[in-house]
Amino acid sequence: MSSNPSRTIPTTTHTSRTIIMSYEVPEQQWAQVIEKSGGPPVYKQIPVAKPAADEVLVNIKYSGVCHTDLHAMKGDWPLDRKLPLVGGHEGAGVVVARGELVKDVELGDRVGVKWLNGSCLACSFCEQADEPLCADAQLSGYTVDGTFQQYCIAKAAHVARIPKDVALDAIAPVLCAGITVYKGLKESGIRPGQSVAIVGAGGGLGSLAQQYAKAMGLRIISIDGGEEKRAMCEQLGSDAYVDFLASKDVVADVRAATEDGLGPHAVLLLAVSEKPFQQAAEYVRSRGVVVAIGLPAGAYLRAPVFQSVVRMITIKGSYVGNRRDTAEAIEFFRRGLIKAPFKTVPLSDLAKVYELMEQGKIAGRYVLDLSK
Ligand code: NAD
Ligand code: ZN
Ligand code: ZN
Repeated sequence: MSSNPSRTIPTTTHTSRTIIMSYEVPEQQWAQVIEKSGGPPVYKQIPVAKPAADEVLVNIKYSGVCHTDLHAMKGDWPLDRKLPLVGGHEGAGVVVARGELVKDVELGDRVGVKWLNGSCLACSFCEQADEPLCADAQLSGYTVDGTFQQYCIAKAAHVARIPKDVALDAIAPVLCAGITVYKGLKESGIRPGQSVAIVGAGGGLGSLAQQYAKAMGLRIISIDGGEEKRAMCEQLGSDAYVDFLASKDVVADVRAATEDGLGPHAVLLLAVSEKPFQQAAEYVRSRGVVVAIGLPAGAYLRAPVFQSVVRMITIKGSYVGNRRDTAEAIEFFRRGLIKAPFKTVPLSDLAKVYELMEQGKIAGRYVLDLSK
């Protein structure tokens, strides 16, 4: 491993700042770079960046590919991102250098670089641990370069701590997908024994959502399309599967899949298409909660006012998670409760992963191996 703390040289000076680093950090590295809006990603060598005083440099070993990375390449959200851009925000690796103000992350520590790369830590949202809402948040693979490179910068205060006994490839998808669905389930207020509909259950977020829901003792109704995803959902422990491609009436089928036919107590909307965002309020149980998490471009939520009022429906958004949610989501994984399927391919294969993702053909998650 390149980062044994005992083999470090203490200081290197770069333009008046001090960086504590491992001597094995190269000048150049392999990366996938979006050079123009719409892509494709270009696999090439780029310089390794130097951490600022409050940052760490992480040798990324594995990175999950989230649908958000595809949105970033296309530029289809009303939120500016940098260009050229190194995408990626589910990176698991090892700290190989740190700035002089970093005191609580050591060289050799196993850490995760997640969507929230950094935040101001001083605004009213950061003060109450709502750092995803910080107006000055930096977003990995979006407003700052992310984890589709071998050496990635992150604010030390925000890196996820990865326990020693956890595999870096399997934990990678937890760093966005896992944290996000865990937070979404908590935001729904659902209780053990109740039922949750997971829309987009066969995708990256959906496969993890099933595992967290199972660990929380929930009944799961999975909604996605096709037989491969049905098989995966059944294997992950879903109690029912509604195929949106085959169903003649998704609303009726989801309701019928609940024990008493009254609909699920909560709905997690993870799909990357608008229609389910306009259906969920119809099948959620009275007093139920619809949590919007997926971010289809240009889409709107829609719900009938009369029924939403008289059935006391709650509709809300949920956006990644804070540092506490991160630690909790990782702890579920460490305890062996989260086993979601993933396929590992080399970093050079990112464009192929995007093609499959665009076609909705990925059951679970793809994880990039950065050593290849
Ligand atoms: P994914 O491509 O892995 O999965 C999406 C799934 O939705 C696919 O399995 C697809 O078949 C399914 N789907 C499409 N149309 C559907 C429909 N009508 N009904 C049911 N299922 C349908 O994507 P992902 O990586 O899981 O990401 C999902 C979305 O979540 C993306 O828009 C992403 O940007 C967003 N996201 C949001 C947050 C957040 O904090 N709110 C965090 C991470 C990702
Ligand atoms: Zn993500
Ligand atoms: Zn802030």
